[in-house]
Amino acid sequence: MAFESLSDKLQNIFSGLKKKGKLSEKDVKTALREVKLALLEADVNFKVVKTFIKNVQERATGHEVLESLTPGQQVIKIVNEELVKLMGDSNNELTYNKEGITVVMMVGLQGAGKTTTSAKISGLIKKKGKKPLLVACDIYRPAAIKQLQIVGEQIDVPVFTMGDNHKPVNIAKAGLEYATKNGNDVVIIDTAGRLHIDETMMDELVEIKDSLNPQETLLVVDAMTGQDAVTVAETFNNQIGVDGVILTKLDGDTRGGAAISVRFVTDKPIKFVGMGEKLTDLEPFHPDRMASRILGMGDVLTLIEKAQDSIDEKQALEMEKKLRNAEFTFDDFLEQMQQVKKMGNINQLMDMIPGMGQQLKNVDIDENEIYKVEAIILSMTKEERANPALLNTSRKKRIALGSGRPLQDVNKLVKQYEQSKKMMKQFSGMMKGKGKKGMFK
Ligand code: GDP
Repeated sequence: MAFESLSDKLQNIFSGLKKKGKLSEKDVKTALREVKLALLEADVNFKVVKTFIKNVQERATGHEVLESLTPGQQVIKIVNEELVKLMGDSNNELTYNKEGITVVMMVGLQGAGKTTTSAKISGLIKKKGKKPLLVACDIYRPAAIKQLQIVGEQIDVPVFTMGDNHKPVNIAKAGLEYATKNGNDVVIIDTAGRLHIDETMMDELVEIKDSLNPQETLLVVDAMTGQDAVTVAETFNNQIGVDGVILTKLDGDTRGGAAISVRFVTDKPIKFVGMGEKLTDLEPFHPDRMASRILGMGDVLTLIEKAQDSIDEKQALEMEKKLRNAEFTFDDFLEQMQQVKKMGNINQLMDMIPGMGQQLKNVDIDENEIYKVEAIILSMTKEERANPALLNTSRKKRIALGSGRPLQDVNKLVKQYEQSKKMMKQFSGMMKGKGKKGMFK
């Protein structure tokens, strides 16, 4: 997970501070020296670290903090606020032209994730009720056009191409014309990148930018490249001017330095972060939520949004009723698992629950487990799923064979199911006793 090592170190430093009832100026300075090292090790730009530590120190060594009843907590609060300030004060979503077509130009080095992110963004735009068009202007990378067509199809967004025999600026212009004729209101231009910044690439991008005057020029950078990502951002911003940055591959084990430094160095906001290879793995960037994740305090808001996005409310209400009456069957079990799967990577979800990331630090939840359980349930007959009491040994053996799982897995699942059902019964009994007040009320 991104930030794991930084997050661990900061939590250790702060739990040391919290244990001390009273803090002296020296205690705070010593702790901040450790914070400084942790940030530098996380590949945060040294200028950023210097300013950050200076700001925190100024605020944290005053009387109000040192003489407060919870000085440790106060220091953490200040670190949190300063981290948020570093990454930007608010969430910056896309802006759209009030009239006419909005042009979004995607730029970045090859391999940063431009093509994938173009498709991801078009998916988000479509969800807002708009009619996006993807335009394939990367005529150099072999198969880039084909790749855009494939991802466009997956996300059900049209892709405009003219092959690789035209100048990118002409393709972009023709794409815009096509959008006008076909009623598309947002045009996303996937431009070419090189492995390294070079002048020809920059000239070509400037030409497209000058000719299309995009509402948003978004730079896609790979968070895994750390300080290089920041340098790339600085160069692109100086040479062509960008409106925002998209950091990809934040799901990997990047140390996180780029996320913390990019805004300060370029003065341009991070607008989105890529959290995986799937076309739905793009999240708006919220500095406060990211700071909270870095400090190990979870990110409940993103979790709720993901749930709202992927869970059908009517189904959820029905499920709640079943849970309350302890009528939960294997079919419901299956349905719940499918809903959770839609929310994304389980290990990432765990990190969003306050305290959970730290507790499950070395536990890698195997997503394949879900498929195994699914296979077992799918091998049951309809009657067995609705009435698990039918499951005797011979039926269980048949299910094991059908699902390709050992019999003990089938036994384990049935046992788990019975236990949760028993718990639900007790729980709903308890709630009935209390006039149904409590969690489900
Ligand atoms: P381009 O050359 O900049 O257009 O890069 P691509 O869009 O082809 O992406 C390069 C690789 O990065 C592909 O394998 C993508 O699946 C992968 N990728 C892009 N974004 C992310 C992300 O947020 N997380 C992960 N894990 N992989 C990503």
